[in-house]
Amino acid sequence: MLNKPTSAMLQGLFAPEDDVLRQIQADAGSQGLPSISLSAEEGRLLQVLLKATNAQKVLEFGALGGYSGTWIARALPADGQLFTLEVSKKHAQAARAAYARAGVAERVTLVEGDARQTLKQMVHESPFDLVFMDADPENYPQYFRAVRSLLRLGGVLTVHNALEGVPGMGFDVRRSRGMMTFLNELARDTTFTSIVLPYGSGTLIAVKTEEGL
Ligand code: SAH
Ligand code: MG
Repeated sequence: MLNKPTSAMLQGLFAPEDDVLRQIQADAGSQGLPSISLSAEEGRLLQVLLKATNAQKVLEFGALGGYSGTWIARALPADGQLFTLEVSKKHAQAARAAYARAGVAERVTLVEGDARQTLKQMVHESPFDLVFMDADPENYPQYFRAVRSLLRLGGVLTVHNALEGVPGMGFDVRRSRGMMTFLNELARDTTFTSIVLPYGSGTLIAVKTEEGL
């Protein structure tokens, strides 16, 4: 008898976690890192976007314990590079260990420090094929202004927790305000074609097109 697909079955089919990813999460837990990383499906969605854009160079805001970075780095070609910005020394250390465990360390450059500052160095690494924002939403308006020019034409901006910017979702007021300001700016920006999927806590996907549609 045929059953309807369940979300657990779909995750197992399309976004299975291997031992390395499971161990990265276990290490993060035992080191007391917050459990706010992507889900496996969200990691897989990043890989789909990376493949769709033939991504070689990626910029991430917020490494945490290296879980999302491992999904990203695995979808890059051997000469690809992920630049990930992380302010916490503790998180940076955990992330570096994760990349080494996953065997992707040479494809990842972790830039330690406040992204409001370190972002300025990224102009030397641009253009990026994909940018993933998953750090401090209160600063997304500032990051977005920089990311607009760091992304190549046809490149993708994707943002985690987009629904946390919507009032009523129970999130810090400053963060919500930052997310809302950013979402409003992006929606009006005629150089991007964008959508927010009600996936997890909201996944924003925006393509840098010459003209928004
Ligand atoms: N992308 C990760 C989760 C990131 S959690 C994953 O899915 O595995 C958010 C991270 O952003 C935290 O590690 C936090 O330390 C970092 N962060 C917060 N504010 C930051 C800032 N201003 N600059 C750089 N990193 C920041
Ligand atoms: Mg997040």
